[in-house]
Amino acid sequence: MSAAKKVLLVTGGSRGIGAAICRLGAASGYRVAVNYASNQAAADAVVAGIEAASGEAIAVRGDVGKEADVVAMFAAVDRAFGRLDAFVNNAGIVDVKARVDEMSAERVERMMRINVTGSFLCAREAVKRMSTRHGGKGGAIVNISSAAARLGAPGEYVDYAASKGAIDTMTVGLAREVVSEGIRVNAVSPGITETEIHASGGQPDRVARMQDMLPMKRAGTADEVAHAVLYLLSDEASYTTGAILNVSGGR
Ligand code: NAP
Repeated sequence: MSAAKKVLLVTGGSRGIGAAICRLGAASGYRVAVNYASNQAAADAVVAGIEAASGEAIAVRGDVGKEADVVAMFAAVDRAFGRLDAFVNNAGIVDVKARVDEMSAERVERMMRINVTGSFLCAREAVKRMSTRHGGKGGAIVNISSAAARLGAPGEYVDYAASKGAIDTMTVGLAREVVSEGIRVNAVSPGITETEIHASGGQPDRVARMQDMLPMKRAGTADEVAHAVLYLLSDEASYTTGAILNVSGGR
């Protein structure tokens, strides 16, 4: 494969929205690094699918909530591909349904460590490699936010919603910080999307339960989110930075 092919790293690229971004990224011509936290079989399956379609991909383990893992993950991509052109801060968690007056410090700290601190640390490593200030050739970053940042997720997970509010603000601030260094930073803000995240938060029936209340009477698909991400990463979005694109079916 050509060393000139652009390289895309997606955190949480092994399942759900991240996996769709990895597959569409490979189909769009990127060499892809598929990050995962613990489910290696899922990451390997995404890599195998990309290779079966004549693409190039690697799986890279790393918990974005651990700084040493983040540093090691980016170093592994350096070793494998020798460049980084596009980065997606996608890894994120929800927790079980709870009111704020029921939340422990441990819960809120874990939410913020993975969703917020993890995204900051990954953005730091991406900027160090892409920024012309650091000798890089520029690049594009997309952060995955959530409609919850606007809606607040009352009675469900306000901690998660607040973590995504932080992602929106980081997107605007980082975009302005690195705009003159060849890097564009944008966010995609999905509404309810059909993935396993709802089951991991103890609500496997969440999509079925809520779809009649959604404007389009259905949840979004991971592919519908991935198309928006690939657009923002592409040169077609060359004058777009600091934008937060709702992919939430009118919600
Ligand atoms: P998902 O199906 O639960 O997949 C989560 C992915 O993230 C998996 O690949 C998982 O890897 C990885 N991951 C989890 N914790 C990690 C960590 N600490 N470090 C590295 N990777 C980690 O989730 P999803 O629904 O695709 O969500 C992806 C993003 O979209 C999240 O930021 C989420 O908040 C956002 N979002 C989702 C929805 C929705 O309705 N689905 C709506 C709005 C926003 P392992 O399998 O190895 O754990």
